[in-house]
Amino acid sequence: MKITDIKATTVTVPLEAPLRHANGCHWGRFVRTIVEVETDEGITGLGEMGGGGESSEAVFRAMKSYLLGHDPANLEEMRFKIANPTASLYNNRTQILAALEFACLDILGQKWNVPVYDILGGKLQSKVPFASYLFFRYANSEDGSGEVRTIDQLVAHAKDLKEKYGFTSHKLKGGVFHPEYELECYLALADEIGTDAKSGDSFRFDPNAVFSTEQAIWFGQAIENVRNDYLEDPVYGLHAMRRTREKVRMPLATNTVVVGFEQLAANILDTACDVILLDTTFWGGIRQCVKAAGVCETFGLGVAVHSSGELGIQLATMLHLGAVIPNLSFAADAHYHQLKDDIIEGGKFQYQNGAIKVPEGAGLGIKLNRDKLAEYAELYKELGGYPYDRDPLRKDWTPTIPNNRWADPEDERTPEI
Ligand SMILES: [Mg+2]
Repeated sequence: MKITDIKATTVTVPLEAPLRHANGCHWGRFVRTIVEVETDEGITGLGEMGGGGESSEAVFRAMKSYLLGHDPANLEEMRFKIANPTASLYNNRTQILAALEFACLDILGQKWNVPVYDILGGKLQSKVPFASYLFFRYANSEDGSGEVRTIDQLVAHAKDLKEKYGFTSHKLKGGVFHPEYELECYLALADEIGTDAKSGDSFRFDPNAVFSTEQAIWFGQAIENVRNDYLEDPVYGLHAMRRTREKVRMPLATNTVVVGFEQLAANILDTACDVILLDTTFWGGIRQCVKAAGVCETFGLGVAVHSSGELGIQLATMLHLGAVIPNLSFAADAHYHQLKDDIIEGGKFQYQNGAIKVPEGAGLGIKLNRDKLAEYAELYKELGGYPYDRDPLRKDWTPTIPNNRWADPEDERTPEI
């Protein structure tokens, strides 16, 4: 089989409300690039990458000169062809490789009439549990709904998600407001949802590495009585994580400073992070994540699944990954429940008791909904991109690390975006 064409279409899909984070904001929608890899046997595979626009559509077009005629089964060869580690010093194509790997695995699954999880070694579980991913949110400027700013709003939002989707793990994305206020929010959340072993619920906090080491230690010690899954990226850097880890009694997790095998090796030789959040995009594909999970298994590190803001194609890759690794010991993260729609046939994946079933169809087990693809490609053409690392209401703000320029929880304004 040979690759005959590569197509890329950038779309933007609305979120319930703008999601605030330590580096800025998702301005009420996600921008993603959908990749289609075509073959001489008439089989097309699907991939997805974050961000987009003319530049990423052009990047995928440029990959045709590398991959036309390439056999999609030669996945390792493709890795070196377009993301050789030393060539990557000039041209880092890790995320591009990931989208193309998803598509090639999708092609192979369709060709062999097996789900991707079978290509990866067979499934150990049929559904993957997810955490509720709680963000501080601006109100939706169209109808004023969805704001999460006060403690009451946060607790009500968490209870609503638990009721709707059945989540038993709860992740709060912090790093927006002053740590004292976010501590109050996190403790109230744990208290209201239930933090004892009997409730079965557990919690995780992720300020996207904007605390100073001393703040991280203070915060970590202040939440020791909560049933924490882990404290995620409280600080930036392996050494700062190691210093924090010496003084807090809970696992530390990262999706920031261990995102490749070199960093994983350094973290094993002198451990700074206990739990590695694998991301099928950041690591360069599902197979790279399976390899990394194997290294974590050998060295007794925990594994969780990171979300970089996915539509259904990438979510499918996370489900197939979750299905095949024996050491996924935590609920996976997904922004997915924040989305209003998806570009796959049949509409959005459904949650049942906080989990999503692994697709059983051949390949990734999903199909593109062409009407939705066209609709959201059109919306992207109309709206363009947005600056992920800017806050629409704080024009002069720079997201420093560590940060001492917090947003004000008393500020009730809604950005017009
Ligand atoms: Mg994180």
